[in-house]
Amino acid sequence: NSFLNMNLSRHILRGITAAGYTKPTPVQGKTIPMALNGKDIVGSAATGSGKTAAFLIPILERLLYRDTRSPRTRVVVLTPTRELAMQCHDVATKLSTHTNIRFCLAVGGLSMKVQEAELRLRPDVVIATPGRFIDHMRNSLGFAVDGIEIMVLDEADRMLEDGFADELEEILKTLPKSRQTMLFSATMTSSVDKLVSTGLRKPHRIMV
Ligand code: AMP
Repeated sequence: NSFLNMNLSRHILRGITAAGYTKPTPVQGKTIPMALNGKDIVGSAATGSGKTAAFLIPILERLLYRDTRSPRTRVVVLTPTRELAMQCHDVATKLSTHTNIRFCLAVGGLSMKVQEAELRLRPDVVIATPGRFIDHMRNSLGFAVDGIEIMVLDEADRMLEDGFADELEEILKTLPKSRQTMLFSATMTSSVDKLVSTGLRKPHRIMV
């Protein structure tokens, strides 16, 4: 059980060291290889399990091989709160120290105009709360979602509890069908199951 057996490039391994991780947590051990294979994933994992790096590491690894001559937003991560989005952004920044992958934080409370300008620069990854993401999806000039290859729904149960079911359904319907989707949730409620059946394709289930 080691990050060294996961076929990760040295740029990412150095990022993992920069973040201070020495060995994968259980959810990372299961999620990283499966996500690198492009599978849809449903993970029951709570905060503290290391789930953020579990989805970020394979995302960053795959982005290393993107064609940088045609920059576009390829990944969107949705989290229930600004705080979680900021924590995710911090982990992503550490892990990507030795790459040129670009991120944009799109959460409520920050200027819509500033975010629109950032999104027009086509950051590789957008980390957002669902309300703000939908605002950009609906009315931002120049924010194209058609290049999105990977979507993460982090703490899906909390986003549903906060009343974002309709927004999440709309987002899932709008993003390209060919994408890879990963959903993480501390609890598996019937509304989470419904979201899984509308938004994911033959997902592999990971329990930790
Ligand atoms: P999360 O469950 O993603 O909120 O992560 C919980 C905490 O565990 C964060 O502070 C991470 O920096 C830390 N963490 C994640 N993965 C590892 C790892 N493999 N080794 C040590 N700490 C980790």
